[in-house]
Amino acid sequence: MTTTVGAPTTFDLGPAKALSCRECGHEIPLAPEFACAECFGPLEVKYSFGDIRREDIEAGPKNIWRYRDLLPVPSDVDNYPNTEPGLTRLVKADRLAAALGVKSLWVKDDTGNPTHSFKDRVVAVALAAARQLGFRVLACPSTGNLANATAAAAARAGWESVVLIPSSLEKAKILTTAVYDGALIAVEGNYDDVNRLATELAAEHEDWAFVNVNVRPYYAEGSKTLAYEIAEQLGWRLPQQVVVPIASGAQLTKVDKGFRELGTLGLVEETPYRVFGAQATGCSPVSAAYKAGRDVVQPVRPDTIARSLAIGAPADGPYVLDVVNRTNGAIEDVSDEEVVEGIRLLARTEGIFTETAGGVTVATAKKLIETGKLDPEAETVLLITGDGLKTLDAIESKVGPRATVPPSADAVHKALGF
Ligand SMILES: *Cc1c(COP(=O)(O)O)cnc(C)c1O
Ligand SMILES: [Zn+2]
Repeated sequence: MTTTVGAPTTFDLGPAKALSCRECGHEIPLAPEFACAECFGPLEVKYSFGDIRREDIEAGPKNIWRYRDLLPVPSDVDNYPNTEPGLTRLVKADRLAAALGVKSLWVKDDTGNPTHSFKDRVVAVALAAARQLGFRVLACPSTGNLANATAAAAARAGWESVVLIPSSLEKAKILTTAVYDGALIAVEGNYDDVNRLATELAAEHEDWAFVNVNVRPYYAEGSKTLAYEIAEQLGWRLPQQVVVPIASGAQLTKVDKGFRELGTLGLVEETPYRVFGAQATGCSPVSAAYKAGRDVVQPVRPDTIARSLAIGAPADGPYVLDVVNRTNGAIEDVSDEEVVEGIRLLARTEGIFTETAGGVTVATAKKLIETGKLDPEAETVLLITGDGLKTLDAIESKVGPRATVPPSADAVHKALGF
């Protein structure tokens, strides 16, 4: 047997040096693989980081590529056409803090990404890795936001795309994917059906990079950039608490990985932080496992307006439980009514209009505060991961004009109660 340790890899993915199994630790060279050949466990990117300095990051591009030396991408990644996501606002949310009764609150506003959700981050990293690995078609199964991000990224790179969505998806998410003119296929089934179909197609079409299936180990690393940005925007330190929405759970586990790496590399002080997870009750398999004290996540059939989080069989569920338990966080879930209230609360206190996933995060934070699980004295960051314009249906019956009047000042005054 020859050893791969220290041997040159064929693929230039910057600091990424190997893939290793999250279950048994088996290591393989960088490749378009996602499952361990020994135990079928999920593979994860392993790195050998160089000397990384804050000044170099600060002098980098004003998007996620400022962290390229921490990602599985080549060092010239920003020379290729891409959507340049990231470096979204970290908003000091004083009015929301007052409404929730907490001392110090921030909102990481990822509605500001090119296709208006955090998925642009993971797709950009998947595309960059897929290019190095020799793929030329970008594909995905999606609950909507990933469809937008994949179709847009492929268009900008000049790649073909194949995007599979459940046919019941919100109209806005269908149109905002179809406009990029890739191959958009609506499948009669829920997301878990679409996901199974993608796994089958990925095995058949070796030149299709399904961002969240066969290049998933690389894709998932893109979520680390949320952690890097939060720390940098706080002045190179970690927050004490962070609330993260859970679909597959990848984002939550990678935010934790990002915080840990920053500490290990000496870019921030290794201060303790707690990671909290947020789900909609209509699709809350991870929350249910957490509350029952189980370490296995039982699949559910999703039924919630928070479609972008509606993954009934979350791939990273068990790892989410690990992170939450290790950091002394918690997981909570909220009803669809609470989700809509969360959307409206964020809008009226901070002027930020989020989609249903953001409503889940805000409403869950509220519930965690009310039940004493989230410390109101500790500095907290809420991850607002997508734009409200994509899920207008959720608020359609709740908000509208206060009055419809003829064009006269009198009528306006009357409507305002003067
Ligand atoms: C996909 C998605 C998430 C969660 O992503 P996972 O990594 O699958 O847990 C959160 N918010 C929005 C808006 C999303 O589209
Ligand atoms: Zn294994």
